[in-house]
Amino acid sequence: MSDRGGFAALDSCVHCGFCLQACPTFLATGDEADSPRGRITLMRALEQGELTADDPDLTMHLDRCLGCRGCEPVCPSGVGYGRGLEAARAVITARRGVSPLARLALWALTTTGVSRVVYALARALRSTGLPARLAGWNRLGFAMGMLAATRQGRTGADRGGQRRTKSPRVSNSVRPRPPLSALLFRGCIMEGLFRHVHDATIRTLSVNGYTVRETAAGGCCGALHAHAGLVDEARTLARANVAAFTDGDDPIVVNSAGCGAMLREYGHLLPDEPAAAALAARVRDVTELLAERGPVPGAPLDRRVAYDPPCHLLHAQRVADAPLAVLGAIPVLRLLTVPDAEQCCGSAGLFTLVQPAMSRAVLAPKLERLRAAAPQVVATGNPGCVMQLGAGLRAAGVRAALCHPVELLDASYAAAGHYA
Ligand code: SF4
Ligand code: SF4
Repeated sequence: MSDRGGFAALDSCVHCGFCLQACPTFLATGDEADSPRGRITLMRALEQGELTADDPDLTMHLDRCLGCRGCEPVCPSGVGYGRGLEAARAVITARRGVSPLARLALWALTTTGVSRVVYALARALRSTGLPARLAGWNRLGFAMGMLAATRQGRTGADRGGQRRTKSPRVSNSVRPRPPLSALLFRGCIMEGLFRHVHDATIRTLSVNGYTVRETAAGGCCGALHAHAGLVDEARTLARANVAAFTDGDDPIVVNSAGCGAMLREYGHLLPDEPAAAALAARVRDVTELLAERGPVPGAPLDRRVAYDPPCHLLHAQRVADAPLAVLGAIPVLRLLTVPDAEQCCGSAGLFTLVQPAMSRAVLAPKLERLRAAAPQVVATGNPGCVMQLGAGLRAAGVRAALCHPVELLDASYAAAGHYA
């Protein structure tokens, strides 16, 4: 992906402005320079040398972009905003580097070895229950709320006292299906703080006729680095994953929308390496694999659930219906309609950390809409969204459990006796 290649994705913009009302930062500030159209003008000026990479207005407005890509599906000209943004950020990062806070977060959360220790400490802290008690709106309180939200969600299912194993023997009550195979992508944050989602992924896919295999290697997808403008580091991580997933052509199952979106971009990230595009073509969200198989229905779950579609699933991967099919396989579950649910929650990788004011401004209207809908459970398929929404709801005093959609299906399957 040459820098021009990324900037070229912006060439089709005709400045119509259809994207403005889909942009959460424009809605928050009303400033054209915080809109997709305004930022495209800035990025073109950067590429053409009319603005320098350290221009304070340029960097402020591009830093305040979530990278949510909510502007892409509504664009009649097919502008590839996300690719243009990554190219512009690479130029800016080459000039000014990455902030110490972002660098520290990347090192702690994604570096093999280091991250293992960091996640172990985070899990130990989480298990004390202290983060939930310290949660609030200030920076420390919000970080604590985010950590508290990574606990396994209380999905409200009656599991009938069954102990669920990671790789269950599927009950004879489930109609046998032709076996299929899938390779699980574990990633870094999902493996460090959301192993229960990996376990639920394996179990629910098993019920639907998949054998889930693992690779010994593989790690961070590189999304946080790419979004920060660290394209070379993202390429290094991408190459490691390409090498780790060369085993056959089975689908690569991903349960983190951010990772899935990044993995699907590997062909553009490494344009001269055909194996990267081959990997990208195998990537499937877990809800897509489940939806293709029905999925098998579970037991009733009497819960009011709000589904919050992650931007990197809905806009970047264009996966809209599959999560609803997963929730639709749970009898009695009431799926609530929350207005503008497709608007970004303000998480956006490290954005919540490095741009807290804009992040909270984007989050605020979503919290009010959720408060009005009064769900018992908010389901969303991305770790950053779980953490952002969980912290925000807790700080706002709105009681709702957070979980991944497959956790609800998993609880429903357990209650149905699908795990022998
Ligand atoms: S990005 Fe698309 S929708 Fe937005 S102004 Fe340009 S052409 Fe119009
Ligand atoms: S990526 Fe999101 S925040 Fe950035 S311009 Fe597009 S809609 Fe707005």
